Amino acid sequence: MEIVLTGTGSPLPDANRAGPSTLVKADDCHVLVDAGRGVLMRMAAAGSLPVFLSGVLLTHLHSDHICDLNDVITTHWIMSQGNGTLAIYGPPGTQEFVDRQMHALEADIGYRIEHHDQLTSGPKVDVTELSPGAEFSINDFRITAAATQHAPVHPTLGYRFENESAVAALVGDTVPCGGVDELAASADAYVQTVIRSDLVKLAPNSMLLDILDYHSDVEDAARTAERVGVKRLVLTHMVPAPLPEQYPEWIDLAKQHFDGEVVIGDDLTTISI
Ligand SMILES: [Zn+2]
Ligand SMILES: [Zn+2]
Repeated sequence: MEIVLTGTGSPLPDANRAGPSTLVKADDCHVLVDAGRGVLMRMAAAGSLPVFLSGVLLTHLHSDHICDLNDVITTHWIMSQGNGTLAIYGPPGTQEFVDRQMHALEADIGYRIEHHDQLTSGPKVDVTELSPGAEFSINDFRITAAATQHAPVHPTLGYRFENESAVAALVGDTVPCGGVDELAASADAYVQTVIRSDLVKLAPNSMLLDILDYHSDVEDAARTAERVGVKRLVLTHMVPAPLPEQYPEWIDLAKQHFDGEVVIGDDLTTISI
């Protein structure tokens, strides 16, 4: 199993970090988790394309995690010449979000159908809304969903991927909670979106202070990793985004609570497990 961080940014625009998304690959099965800003550029760099996707999983409907889903849908439609069906999984609300995306794309869909004989209908999208505890398979991946806590954003889900070789937990924005513990239990890699609460607290911008109560900070993630016995803690969606010379400080902070390996995510960082 390979985990490719296709976007390690946050809502804050960053020249070097695409918006939140992660690609999980095993052989020719590619599954995308979230679809933030610039996801298709990073997928292309990772040797993937929308037509290779066996599924797209959404953790929640915050715009930074879904703003490029329309690009995934449209490019999948065009590159499959209208023949492929894109499977999208997410929390309740996903179907309505996708329906509205399709509505927003209506003019474009009409132009392309008119222009290309191969296209006889709009994008084929199959949405499955998931409840916490849902278990399903995508090719050889067994996937479990669990509720995470990101109030007032509700519902939110994290995912556990298992195949014959490894276990990966991909957890979106959340504070530590039982759902995260379940997903990450004994995982080979636990990918967690994080903030540095000690630095965010220094922000002069009071709206930024609001993010403190619904994210894991680096120490929270490290404590979770230690508590549930994961092998590798992978940090992504970091706020504020660290510069490479600051990585040792972030790692030291995590290491105060966690004995395993700590990976600071860059775009296209790849973890093979
Ligand atoms: Zn969020
Ligand atoms: Zn986010």
